[in-house]
Amino acid sequence: MIALTEVTKQYAGGVRALDGASLTIGAGEFAAIVGPSGSGKSTLLHLAGTLDRPTAGRVVVDGHDVARLSDRQLSALRARRIGFVFQQFHLAAGVPALDNVADGLLYAGVPARSRRARARTALERVGLGHRLNHEPHALSGGERQRVAIARAVVGEPALLLADEPTGNLDSASGAEVMALLRSLHDDGTTVVVITHDREVAAATDRCIRVHDGRVTA
Ligand code: ADP
Repeated sequence: MIALTEVTKQYAGGVRALDGASLTIGAGEFAAIVGPSGSGKSTLLHLAGTLDRPTAGRVVVDGHDVARLSDRQLSALRARRIGFVFQQFHLAAGVPALDNVADGLLYAGVPARSRRARARTALERVGLGHRLNHEPHALSGGERQRVAIARAVVGEPALLLADEPTGNLDSASGAEVMALLRSLHDDGTTVVVITHDREVAAATDRCIRVHDGRVTA
């Protein structure tokens, strides 16, 4: 699903966020990426999610060499095959949960009517069938993150990338989110989670350690 070979990422200003990082994550894995702040975890996730391109080295995602695809082809790959979850939820304020989730299909070429039907199914899957018309401000943090996960998986992506998905949650809500990620993994989705939290890392099947822009263990 993800193969990084000797990947370097240097940002404008000269910061070398990744420095010869190599990593393979197979289809169907449930993995955590851990390491100190500034070690390159988010950069690694951005490259694996085709949101950015490496300065040097090879990135293959879902069988596609990122260097061989145009920006338009990368957008299509993301829209059809990759879901994202972030620490800050990134839900649209003032928009009901159902429409927040349906918007996850905007770029996947799904007609408007079936977008809402599929959003309802996705919200039921994350246990929020009774919150379809709630706006984000009327939901708890854990519920907001579950809406964000429903939005990320409504298109049934092969790969789900989560950057500190429990970082803004109390431990009970965080455990619920991890149980939900595990059930998505059980259904065949490849799930990769960035985390600072040992318990979160321990709730996955594999721990990938990043330090100073390299994969060290
Ligand atoms: P982590 O997720 O492990 O905290 P990051 O990948 O966010 O690490 O950052 C790695 C390094 O790259 C840090 O030194 C950070 O300041 C730098 N960095 C991250 N994003 C950018 C950017 N867009 N421009 C310049 N430097 C960046």
